[in-house]
Amino acid sequence: MSTSITFADLGLADPLMRAIADAGYTTPTPIQAQAIPRVLAGGDLLAAAQTGTGKTAGFTLPILHMLLAKPLEVRKAGRPRVLILTPTRELTAQVEESVKTYGAHTKISSMVIFGGVNINPQISALRKPVDILVATPGRLLDHCQQRTVDLSGVEILVLDEADRMLDMGFIRDIRKILALMPRQRQNLLFSATFSDEIRELSKSVLTNASEVSVAARNTTAERVDQTVYMVDQAHKRDILSHIISESGWHQVLVFTRTKHGANRLAEKLVKDGLSASAIHGNKSQAARTRALDDFKKGKVAVLVATDIAARGLDIDQLPQVVNFELPNIPEDYVHRIGRTGRAGAAGSAISLVDSSEIKYLKAIERIIKKTIPQLPAPTGWTASPPSPHGADDEARAEGRRDGQRRPQQRSARPSGSGAGARPARSGQGPSSAPRRDSQGDSRSAPRRDAPAAGARAPHGAGGAVRTGTGMGAGARTGSRTGAPSSSAPRSASGDPANRPRRPALFNK
Ligand code: AMP
Repeated sequence: MSTSITFADLGLADPLMRAIADAGYTTPTPIQAQAIPRVLAGGDLLAAAQTGTGKTAGFTLPILHMLLAKPLEVRKAGRPRVLILTPTRELTAQVEESVKTYGAHTKISSMVIFGGVNINPQISALRKPVDILVATPGRLLDHCQQRTVDLSGVEILVLDEADRMLDMGFIRDIRKILALMPRQRQNLLFSATFSDEIRELSKSVLTNASEVSVAARNTTAERVDQTVYMVDQAHKRDILSHIISESGWHQVLVFTRTKHGANRLAEKLVKDGLSASAIHGNKSQAARTRALDDFKKGKVAVLVATDIAARGLDIDQLPQVVNFELPNIPEDYVHRIGRTGRAGAAGSAISLVDSSEIKYLKAIERIIKKTIPQLPAPTGWTASPPSPHGADDEARAEGRRDGQRRPQQRSARPSGSGAGARPARSGQGPSSAPRRDSQGDSRSAPRRDAPAAGARAPHGAGGAVRTGTGMGAGARTGSRTGAPSSSAPRSASGDPANRPRRPALFNK
């Protein structure tokens, strides 16, 4: 990841150099080495860079430098000089955190704006001058309509994760926002991939842009060890719980395709004595922030997330990513595993793949241009009791999710859905489609997320997870016992005395 260019070569202002040193960065990453001089030169930029490449500093550092070099005599309330648009509230918060980190030794002010939370504190904050505004498009437009934000002074526009913004149906909002800004401005567009749609957008936003690219189109993060385990969908929760317990992972991000699946998996892991929480669009902003904080601080070892909720999460050197289900859009796999192996750190990603997902695996391998090594299913795990509906609910959801994602992504924003406040496991079905930026999770919204009510496995008589005391220790004991000689599960109702204590995890 490092380059022969040094930060000193880039000519950044002293307060920024101090912040870089505070952050412990020694050399610019390739995207920084390429983007920073171009942004400082004042031109528009089209940059292909995935999350994890250091792209945020790639645009934040030169922006801060330019603001420092040209201070305004009069700063007005709610009238930013820089607008950074991002697709999700988590990414918005993280980008602004970076702005604060790199601007720590300056007086430059920044603020975030995103939906799903009370607008009034944002309105109050906007009564003060703000230099850099980081926002999701929907809530920003609300502010513009209420005249609490004035975009007429924007000198620099950044579209971060532009591909995601298009995927999430923000193009009309973006166009409305563009119309509120001065024509004369510097534009920086960052995208993980250069799709035809991105090229189209860039034509309407950028002028004589230089192009930089730090990864060939759709390449997978290079330093991520990738492995596939072929397992039955119905056994995935038990197997994953077992893997995490046995491997002693302390920080693992698990992707599920549905919000309901994320909840169920987190509940199962907690029952098995692991510290886990779920993060997705149906959780309140406060719950999401808390879960992320706990995960970052190491209080929670397992964060279970849907794709959009996880988008942009910046967790330093995340060692382990798990695909509980493969995404049906292959590019999402690249984004997911981009959470690990960040900025040069080594990482590992495992995928639990059911036979019904082989078509997704093939599609992923086509786009990453390599075959992901497959290992036999892990052994030694304990089966939970079957669902009262006779079939695993995620397996049933599996049958419904093909081909349903793309059309829904582009649907218009439903009016006043308030989905962010919806109880995590109650509302089910298409009517609960979320407002996009208010929960930043619209792509995982409807039907895929709607298994039949009450599908959760009971913890009643005879169940494996019921051994002992319910939550925690008893369940954990259950999952650690049993070492079947094949990959088949062993029921916890078998004789515990016959089970070895520490079974080998994999049939390697
Ligand atoms: P980003 O791609 O902007 O999300 O950044 C990914 C991670 O790389 C963040 O955790 C940054 O703190 C880290 N990072 C950014 N620039 C550097 C650098 N020059 N050296 C080491 N780490 C960096």
